[in-house]
Amino acid sequence: MTLTTHATLGAVIGHAVGNPALAFVFGFLSHFLVDMIPHGDTGLADNFHVHKRRRKQAVAYVVVDAIVALLFVLLIANTRDLESVRTFSWGITGGVLPDLLVGLYEVTKTPLLRWFNKLHFYFHDFFVRKKGDVPLYYALMAQVVFIAYLQTKL
Ligand SMILES: [Zn+2]
Repeated sequence: MTLTTHATLGAVIGHAVGNPALAFVFGFLSHFLVDMIPHGDTGLADNFHVHKRRRKQAVAYVVVDAIVALLFVLLIANTRDLESVRTFSWGITGGVLPDLLVGLYEVTKTPLLRWFNKLHFYFHDFFVRKKGDVPLYYALMAQVVFIAYLQTKL
């Protein structure tokens, strides 16, 4: 999923559980669950890892995704009377941390994160490898709708 989806879901979970530690833990776990839903990025990932072509496109996608997520989180934080900034922050942190760790692994290839990278993609690719992926455009539109719904819960 996009980082905006992970961040918004993490924020809503944080709001729902009302405790920073639980917000982090459930935000973290939510990442793996929603990533299991096919969301259109398999082509980008395969181009990057397998075919080694159009790699700049994958990098650009990640950069745009990260900046949109950052701006969306700031928009929420600056336009809402959040009940707890701490649960909001820790929910988001847990929600996006798995992709940060995967990115760190991609950059460093450290053996310390290899297991985590495998775990992440075990969930991420769980249904995609069996049933195939959905078109990225539709997946992004679906996430916009999901985020629009989620943000009403904050
Ligand atoms: Zn992920």
